[in-house]
Amino acid sequence: MSLDPISQLLADFQAEAAATAASPAEELLRVEALRVRLLGKKGEVTALLRQLGQLSAEERPVFGQRVNTLKEQIGEQLDALRSAAQLAAEQAELEAGWLDPTLSTAAAGALAVNLPARGQKHPITRLLDIVIEHFTGLGFEVASGPEIEDTWHNFDALNIPDNHPARDVWDTFYTTKGEVPRTHTSSVQIRTMLSQKPPIRVISPGKCFRNETIDATHLAAFNQCEGLYVDRGVTLGHLKATLEGWVQRLFGPEVKVRFRPAFYPFVEPGLDLDAQCFLCGGGGHLAGGATCTVCRGKGWLEVIPCGMVHPNVLRNCGIDPDEWSAFAFGMGFDRLVMLQNGIDDLRRLYSGRLDLVRQL
Ligand SMILES: [Zn+2]
Repeated sequence: MSLDPISQLLADFQAEAAATAASPAEELLRVEALRVRLLGKKGEVTALLRQLGQLSAEERPVFGQRVNTLKEQIGEQLDALRSAAQLAAEQAELEAGWLDPTLSTAAAGALAVNLPARGQKHPITRLLDIVIEHFTGLGFEVASGPEIEDTWHNFDALNIPDNHPARDVWDTFYTTKGEVPRTHTSSVQIRTMLSQKPPIRVISPGKCFRNETIDATHLAAFNQCEGLYVDRGVTLGHLKATLEGWVQRLFGPEVKVRFRPAFYPFVEPGLDLDAQCFLCGGGGHLAGGATCTVCRGKGWLEVIPCGMVHPNVLRNCGIDPDEWSAFAFGMGFDRLVMLQNGIDDLRRLYSGRLDLVRQL
């Protein structure tokens, strides 16, 4: 008997192995069927071994060895095919395994299908949406500007003198070219006043950068939103009404606000708006007598620095302060999100921890 059946079987197997089934699942079935057909107890390779008895004493060891080699070769090739099919099956499951557009949510739940986790916006983005919705409703437009500024737009135009500590490298980052990663979005107000004629109503949300030692309430990069209203006859009354409405939107219609005098070089007069603590109602203590965790016992929350835009700032932007007046305000977004949600450490908002963000 010739040794050809071995070569023939190998050639046939390799031709079959080269084909691929339509799907990874079918491919797995196909590979297992091939294994049974060739290497099973009644398989074709096993059948070859049964032919040993018909061979001469010289032929037997050679034939036997060749059949064993064939068995190993086919086994290895089938293992490789199975691994590839399993990998493809896992990949397909990852890509589309849970996505059955024909299945209702209820049906998917009943079948215990692994539904994807529901996504949501980050709390800072959610607050940004609310700010934009609220102020555009009052006729404000959203303005944006560069995050890397020159010192004129970031400081000089805002009436911040050369010797002001805010310009110090301990407070402000500088590029090697002497530019400033903006320390506030007030630079956008300047750019808006330079490029538009009054009346102007804008809010300018965006990222700001300061050379801060990072701790629970300070970050070197943070989010801010400022607002500006320039028109004839704008007064503190307009500022008060606008910001009271906003704080009530933020913390509820019952919340009380107060204005305290404050100094900022770009406003005159300058004010700080405080909101009565929404958690303890202004008493500074929670039920049971514990110190309020949100206001830390003060009863009030510093929320919005604001004021009437300094005449020098208007002049710097080519706006006559005898004809026009303006109010401006700013708010740290991250701080507002902290207050709203009772978060004790600002860094948590930027930790990328989804388990935290999903609670908010
Ligand atoms: Zn409180």
